[in-house]
Amino acid sequence: MTSPDSGASTTADLPDYAPIPRSALGPALNDQGYYVGRVERNLYWVTDGVYNSAFLTTGDGVVVFDAPPSIGNNLRRAVDEIAAANGVPNTVTHLVYSHHHADHAGAASLFGGDVTRIGHQETRRLLERDGDPARPLPEITFTDRYTLQVGGERVELAWYGPNHTPDNIYIHFPGHDTLMFIDVVNAGWVPIYNVNLSEDVIGYMGAPAIALSYPWTHFISGHLGRLATRDDVAVHQAYIADIEASSREALAAVNPIPFYVAAGENFWAGVKAHLDTVTERAAAPVIAKYTGVLAAADIEEFTRTTTFQIMQSLRLDRGVTVSSAVHP
Ligand SMILES: [Zn+2]
Repeated sequence: MTSPDSGASTTADLPDYAPIPRSALGPALNDQGYYVGRVERNLYWVTDGVYNSAFLTTGDGVVVFDAPPSIGNNLRRAVDEIAAANGVPNTVTHLVYSHHHADHAGAASLFGGDVTRIGHQETRRLLERDGDPARPLPEITFTDRYTLQVGGERVELAWYGPNHTPDNIYIHFPGHDTLMFIDVVNAGWVPIYNVNLSEDVIGYMGAPAIALSYPWTHFISGHLGRLATRDDVAVHQAYIADIEASSREALAAVNPIPFYVAAGENFWAGVKAHLDTVTERAAAPVIAKYTGVLAAADIEEFTRTTTFQIMQSLRLDRGVTVSSAVHP
């Protein structure tokens, strides 16, 4: 097939990345392009290999947690398949939003009719702002905690402040030994660009400890194609802690003055040269350490941009000063 913009770079020239560890990959998908599996009892997870969603079947109907458009109508197929196999109703009565992002919620409108949508009040505000008909507003909202009870099952929703987004919540299934928490930890993989495209760096960095403070064995993390474990969260925490330590070291070690002297009156050229040098010094040992441990750690731009964000947050939020930063 001929591409209309044939001058653009093609996908054929990918660099030779390290092999993806087997442990980072999930179960094979079916012919429709999804996998549905039991997490515990009547809690199920669905994946397309990159995105995850979940649902709870009860005698009173099905509760869906997130509706990524990439899974789309396969979510409906997965619900129908499991409900038929277990002889329970396949009617989706509730849909819970983890956060407002379209890549996890953009198939919400596929579940129409009498479905009750539940989300944080900030999710409602952001969805109202964004005006996307694919993501209808939640009818039920909460500020700090909400207990959802359907068909004898209990789900605890909680908000502890901004992290990946201002509205990203923790979804605990106390009767299923499971926590669902999206877009902070990628099971077995590094975060993508800029702290996994997150808005609040300090909140993002603290979120795994909050996740681990809950009792659970199974973790539904949103990405990629498998469930996560407590060990996955711990490895992610170590990766982020290593970036923080490395950034502190580099901020203290790299003297900015020569860069500004060399840049003359182009101050921004001095800023760029200094911060690029700090970022490179901080990221390089982390990339080396996690290549082969976390999948795609050798896509250097991911760890570099995440390091840049964390290094900037250390400066701006934590007040960590660069070498010779305080005017005499
Ligand atoms: Zn997101």
